[in-house]
Amino acid sequence: MITKFRKISKIGFVILILYSKKGEEKMAYIIAEPCIGVKDTACTEVCPVDCIHPKKDEADFEKEEQLYIDPNECIDCGACEPVCPVSAIFPESSLPEKWKSFIEKNANYYKRKKEAVG
Ligand code: SF4
Ligand code: SF4
Repeated sequence: MITKFRKISKIGFVILILYSKKGEEKMAYIIAEPCIGVKDTACTEVCPVDCIHPKKDEADFEKEEQLYIDPNECIDCGACEPVCPVSAIFPESSLPEKWKSFIEKNANYYKRKKEAVG
């Protein structure tokens, strides 16, 4: 019985690790504070999966103070990082501690968009 329990616990642990790793991959790149007020959209032009918004022709572009990366669509290619004139884009693993809140801020933009659609 104890052996069986240990086996199940081990499988659960492995699933948990895999699940958290998957989550990390999904939050690969983050746009942080330096984008605020700049919003030149250079990053949107190089993203191969169109996961950086809002773009200039989108209704909420003026309202949003910065652009955001969709954590569910980003494929972790890194193409956006070098084109940013103010170095606002980071892989999540290299995001400076002072800007950690931008992980949630990027994700929340897409949550709000989904909720608005219904
Ligand atoms: S890392 Fe690649 S896929 Fe992700 S936002 Fe940047 S350009 Fe787009
Ligand atoms: S390139 Fe940099 S400053 Fe320009 S919109 Fe993208 S993240 Fe913001």
